[in-house]
Amino acid sequence: MIQTVNLQKLFATEEVETTALHGISMDVRDGEFVAIMGPSGCGKSTLLNILGLLDNPTAGEYHFYGTEVSRMSERQRAQLRKGSIGFVFQSFNLIDELTVYENVELPLLYLKTPADERKARVEEALTRMNIMHRRNHFPQQLSGGQQQRTAIARAVVAKPKLILADEPTGNLDSANGEEVMKLLMQLNDEGTTIIMVTHSPYDAGFAHRIVNLFDGKIVTENFHV
Ligand code: ADP
Ligand code: MG
Repeated sequence: MIQTVNLQKLFATEEVETTALHGISMDVRDGEFVAIMGPSGCGKSTLLNILGLLDNPTAGEYHFYGTEVSRMSERQRAQLRKGSIGFVFQSFNLIDELTVYENVELPLLYLKTPADERKARVEEALTRMNIMHRRNHFPQQLSGGQQQRTAIARAVVAKPKLILADEPTGNLDSANGEEVMKLLMQLNDEGTTIIMVTHSPYDAGFAHRIVNLFDGKIVTENFHV
C-alpha cells in the first residue's frame, strides 16, 4: 500500500534550516497497524503529514498503491487524500462552529456524496462511534473522549483505506484513551490500514509493528507476532 524510498524533508526559514527527515524508507502493507514512536521533534508528525499527502517531501519517493504521489498535481493529491485517507489528531481538530453531525458530514460534502447516502453514512458512523446522542451538540459542549469519537467518525465516514492518527489518545484520560484504541483496533480488524504516532508504549502494543524514529531516521523496527 505504501512504499517510501529515502524520503527527506527540509524546512528552511530565513534564519534556520531544519532537516526533519533524513532518508526514511519504509513499507506498509494493506491491513497493517503500524505505530511510530520517538522523542519530541524527531519527525513523527512530518512523516505522517507526508504519508497523508498533506505535505510534500523535499526529496525521495512516495508510492501510494503503486503511484508516485509526489509527482501528482496538488489537485490529484487532494482528490486521492479525500477519497482514501482519514485523519485523527491529538487536538481533535473539529470545527467549533459546526455540530457533531455537520463535522462528520463534511468529508462527504467534499466528495459530493448524494444527500440520502450522506445521511445514511453519517448516521452509521455516529452510531458506530457511540456519539449519535450528541449529534446536535457543538464540540465545545463535549468531553474530550466524545470529541475524539466525533473526530474518528469524521475520519471513517468516507470509508478510507488508510487512517493516520497523530497521538490520538494524547489528550485523553486512560478510560477514554482505551475506548479510542478499541475503536481503532476494530477498524483495523475490518481491514483498514492504520499508522499511528504515539508516545504511549501501551497503545503501541496494539500495533503489529513499531517503527522507532530518532533525529529523522528509523532506528529500529519491532514486530509483534
Ligand atoms: P514530532 O512530531 O516527532 O514531535 P515534528 O515532525 O513535528 O516532530 O518536527 C520535526 C522537526 O521539524 C522539528 O525540529 C520541528 O521543529 C521541525 N518542523 C516541523 N514542522 C516545521 C515547519 N512547518 N517549519 C519549520 N520547522 C518545522
Ligand atoms: Mg508531533
